Amino acid sequence: MSQTATPARTRYVVMKFGGTSVAARKRWDNIATLVRARREEGLRVVIVVSALSGVTNALQSLVDAAQRGEDLADAAAALARRHEAFVGELGLASAPLITEWLSRFAHLVAAPRDGGRDLSWQAEMLALGELFSSSLGAHFLAEQGLDAEWLDAREFLRAEPVANASPWARWLSVNCRCRPDPAVQAALARRSPVLITQGFIAADDDGRTVILGRGGSDTSASYFGALVQAERVEIWTDVAGMFSANPRQVPAARLLKRLDYEEAQEIATTGAKVLHPRCLSPVRDAGVPLLVKDTNRPDLAGTVIAARDAAAGSPDSVKAISARTGIVLVSMETVGMYQQVGFLAEVFDVFRRHGLSVDLIGSAETNVTVSL
Ligand code: ADP
Ligand code: ASP
Ligand code: MG
Repeated sequence: MSQTATPARTRYVVMKFGGTSVAARKRWDNIATLVRARREEGLRVVIVVSALSGVTNALQSLVDAAQRGEDLADAAAALARRHEAFVGELGLASAPLITEWLSRFAHLVAAPRDGGRDLSWQAEMLALGELFSSSLGAHFLAEQGLDAEWLDAREFLRAEPVANASPWARWLSVNCRCRPDPAVQAALARRSPVLITQGFIAADDDGRTVILGRGGSDTSASYFGALVQAERVEIWTDVAGMFSANPRQVPAARLLKRLDYEEAQEIATTGAKVLHPRCLSPVRDAGVPLLVKDTNRPDLAGTVIAARDAAAGSPDSVKAISARTGIVLVSMETVGMYQQVGFLAEVFDVFRRHGLSVDLIGSAETNVTVSL
């Protein structure tokens, strides 16, 4: 009797490198070494990169300056020069993709749509940082002899409409579809075994560029990890993992070696910038572990985030302290709500109509305070 063998599933690892992890030649040498090791493990690799550190801030400043009617030429030229200089730092004789993005940049800078207020123009401007860095990386890794190919994230990450989202959120803070997708897996399997793509950017259903929100490259990696059902997603950053507090503010903070998805979610949502708050649910739903690692010290174990290990005992301890700044508090005070029916429903309907997401809520007999 003949048996039909089940084809072995293609095994992927997704590796995301943040801004400081891609902003110097020696970091790229580390990246090449790490990718080679993953290939030796028999894994196909999807690399997701952020813009070089400071570049998204610089692009945002250009967007703000355009809205003030200022001339963008000098600041834009400085940003272009930084990327041209990095082509040299990486030892590349030429970088055709960079030339293409520089001309797109010049075109956008020359003609801000609606005085820079047009959200699709803003999204295209902000997307350039990751288009630059991923193209530099693709040229560099190919030059290092890796079978690496540049991939446009907008082919695979599609924004998902969210009810009551404001126009700003629909262009500049989108969520994407991320259920494991055999079509995506088949399409990627036809490409090179090492793919390098952009964090932070996606496309809407009409193929227009949209943005995942500041810090969103972690979430791009998580989306790719879920789509291809990766073995793991590795978030490579500038600290040794997730700590019990921001290690830059609290030097005595302890490394958290293992967290479950819910614990990591709480830490990320309450202000620990090390992970974008939206990056945990896609990997949790797909059952893909997520690791946080230090690009400069790859031998350190880092933090592993995975499903709760029932055998590991009680999770009931304080894991971390986070801080968040720039929060808007709205405090509503009235005796009119005492024993009223539907008072809170009416209050929250106002936030819904304005597309505002309420975060924390405190309430007393005559006061409701929310944070936005
Ligand atoms: P990347 O550019 O790699 O995405 P980020 O700057 O977004 O890096 O996130 C890493 C930073 O997060 C660290 O440099 C650290 O200052 C900060 N951070 C805040 N809270 C924590 C925490 N609890 N554990 C680790 N890092 C934290
Ligand atoms: N470059 C984007 C930012 O600075 C996305 C990211 O780095 O995660 O917000
Ligand atoms: Mg980040």
